[in-house]
Amino acid sequence: MNVTHPLRRTKIVCTIGPSSWETDILTELANAGMNVARLNFSHGDRDSHQEIIDRIQAYNASSDLQVGIMLDTKGAEIRTGDVQDPILVAKGEEVVFSSTASESARERKLIEVSYDGFAKDVIETDTILIDNGEISFDIVSVEPDGSVIAKAREKGEIGTRRHINLPGADIDLPSITESDWEDLRYGAEKNLDFLALSFIRNAAEVEQVRALLEEVGSTSKIISKIETQKGVNNIKEIIDASDGIMVARGDLGADLPFEKLPAIQDEIVCRCKDAGKPVIIATHMLESMKEHPVPTRAEVTDTAHAVATGTDSTMLSGETASGSHPLVALQAMIRIHHATEEHLSRLETTYNIHFRDSAEEEMDKAIALAEEEEVEAFVLITETGRTANHISKFRAPIPIIALTKNDIIQRSLSLSFGVYALKVDFDSSDDVTMQNGVDLAQKIGLLKKGQKVMLLKDRANKMEVVTL
Ligand code: PEP
Repeated sequence: MNVTHPLRRTKIVCTIGPSSWETDILTELANAGMNVARLNFSHGDRDSHQEIIDRIQAYNASSDLQVGIMLDTKGAEIRTGDVQDPILVAKGEEVVFSSTASESARERKLIEVSYDGFAKDVIETDTILIDNGEISFDIVSVEPDGSVIAKAREKGEIGTRRHINLPGADIDLPSITESDWEDLRYGAEKNLDFLALSFIRNAAEVEQVRALLEEVGSTSKIISKIETQKGVNNIKEIIDASDGIMVARGDLGADLPFEKLPAIQDEIVCRCKDAGKPVIIATHMLESMKEHPVPTRAEVTDTAHAVATGTDSTMLSGETASGSHPLVALQAMIRIHHATEEHLSRLETTYNIHFRDSAEEEMDKAIALAEEEEVEAFVLITETGRTANHISKFRAPIPIIALTKNDIIQRSLSLSFGVYALKVDFDSSDDVTMQNGVDLAQKIGLLKKGQKVMLLKDRANKMEVVTL
């Protein structure tokens, strides 16, 4: 694939589903700039996921720029039961939530729930939300038989297997369920690039997955999804234990008052930047594009805000998984990223980055010099991805071409801000390796003749500005 557009620095994760899993559209998304393909293990079976993985791997085998693969676990979600027809609920109507047939349901409609501990957990909240708040209920009482009577705040209908949130309640289910463990083992054994863990509440849960990766000898990276108040409370230890973070705004915005979401999102982005770990902003970014070919102005501004705060990546969910315009949605997000990055590059960077060590201070100096010299790209060699991530942390308005000899490391950088990772054979001379990398970058259109680039040699300790 040849790059013909200006280099975007903020990455994009696309969720793959029925609208995008055929080879043709997957290829179009990858060619248009999808950086990571997310497979949502809440839906579908192992065989269909494997088919999609095979298609992406076939694409990667024929492309110099790679698409990372993310397995996203189902997690400990609570859902309503199967129904033949949607249950219609009137405003003010009392219904019964229960995992079994209940005495209280004789005079009321029964909303079956998939989980026995429900009655115990609802004590910690006063609200039940269906589908992130499309219908909400005030809890009226918890009956001795474990059924929960609740009154609808608005009218609505509840179809099969709808998602339930109990805002603020600490659900008594393990965040990682038995079936998640099976999925994680499968992903770890296949060295899928990223394993996203749903409903993570503390570092101990992340450590358990880390132990699995070690047992299997896996290179997969762990992305913890922050989607509960508990996860927010423990954010520091979770970032420390994880390789990256996803701000899963769907569930998070249901678990805590939604007006708190923007501040929490920004706080998590800042903390991840300080820690030098990639962060993804997810859910409802261009939601209306599931149906319409243009986003709402509010969605454009929300996406631009995520870019302006320096998130590593934004994510498309239903827009690319099940929407009517998957490619148009990705192209719209790319347009927003380009326009916002261009606007930002004219502003002074005011973000006060926390230096963890002297190597990072050196990086900061390299960026200052590169900006002064009006350099258009950095080129560096990275064995483990660490040098590339170090420089990515500083959110320079300059793309980073990272040369690696290993395609696993190459794809592990697919979420990192500003990094274009290329696989090249390493020569015993770094100068030759760099030249090979620059030649490849020019061949595929990442760099052009006449551009000024800064070569960062010897783990970025030596800087050299050259004109191609
Ligand atoms: C979310 O809740 O925002 C999210 C990304 O999780 P999922 O889509 O897996 O429910």
